[in-house]
Amino acid sequence: MSKLLVIAEGRDGTLRNVSYEAVAAAKAIDNEAEIVGIVLGNEALDEQAQELIHYGADRVVTIKSDKLETYTSEGYGQAVLAVVNEESPDGIVMGHTSIGKDLTPKLAAKLDTGLISDVVEIEQTGDRAEFIRPIYSGKAFEKKIITDGLGFVTIRPNNIPPLEHDASRSGEVTAKDVEVADIRTIVKEVVRKASEGVDLSEANVVIAGGRGVKSADGFKPLYELADVLGGAVGASRGACDADYCDYSLQIGQTGKVVTPDLYIAVGISGAIQHLAGMSNSKVIVAINKDPEANIFNIADYGIVGDLFEIIPLLIEEIKAIKA
Ligand code: FAD
Repeated sequence: MSKLLVIAEGRDGTLRNVSYEAVAAAKAIDNEAEIVGIVLGNEALDEQAQELIHYGADRVVTIKSDKLETYTSEGYGQAVLAVVNEESPDGIVMGHTSIGKDLTPKLAAKLDTGLISDVVEIEQTGDRAEFIRPIYSGKAFEKKIITDGLGFVTIRPNNIPPLEHDASRSGEVTAKDVEVADIRTIVKEVVRKASEGVDLSEANVVIAGGRGVKSADGFKPLYELADVLGGAVGASRGACDADYCDYSLQIGQTGKVVTPDLYIAVGISGAIQHLAGMSNSKVIVAINKDPEANIFNIADYGIVGDLFEIIPLLIEEIKAIKA
């Protein structure tokens, strides 16, 4: 039986959804594998470990250290390597998040092994898994396989659904003592930008505003719509450049890549660089007053009109449906 490690990620005492998706990805790689979760932090980690088990992990190793309070590749790297050395896994899965993107290549290089990043789908053919990942900014997909040895896999949030939560599942939680050696990087303060509510990269619904929104105030109805739909607000670079919102909201080639179930593009023309960050969304709705706007070429549903009239109507309708 093979053994796969899943590196979980937490925030404010709870695990991020992508950690549960990583467990499902490990199952998709090998349904028979033992799945061992790794939960790191500086606080009580048992509850998070149990949640990972409820979502399909067989057992969990926790490592608690003051030096793991905030992410550093040195600290997390040492902790994960200690588990890898002890467990000798056949593969390691993590979210393709900012932490996953930073940590896994460094560990893969240290372990002299491969990494398949940004995986959106895993298929079984014969006795091995094929990993499907977008290339050329989402315009094409490639399939990769691991031919030999240990491999790292990072999965794009929101593409591989987590397994069903099962509170009756139980498994062993082992607190591992790891002496995290002095870390040369000192994180003095973490300033979180515009991440109230749902995290943009993991949101199921994204309402993105463009230059057509015209001002920072113009974004307010978008936040209201995001609120009623339980989603997050994003933006085009046009809107960020115009200072209507923070760059942390930018979606596209040089911004975040999102794949929500529903993407509503509001006052966005649909430049190729914007499409690179959202074209794989499941359902795309475009609201634009220009019927020729390029965004309509990839939209599943298009509304031609003034966003300042349409958004309040949408909010009203959705509230009425929900009431
Ligand atoms: P515009 O192109 O100005 O479009 C505004 C739209 O709003 C228009 O279609 C207009 O019809 C509509 N509109 C106006 N008023 C209303 C109204 N009242 N109601 C409804 N509709 C209205 N862009 C990104 O988004 N993400 C990236 O990551 C990115 N990376 C880039 C990297 C490089 C190297 C380069 C060169 C460019 C990059 N860009 C990126 C910029 C990109 O090329 C476009 O300039 C940008 O996406 C345009 O933003 P926009 O659609 O909001 O603005």
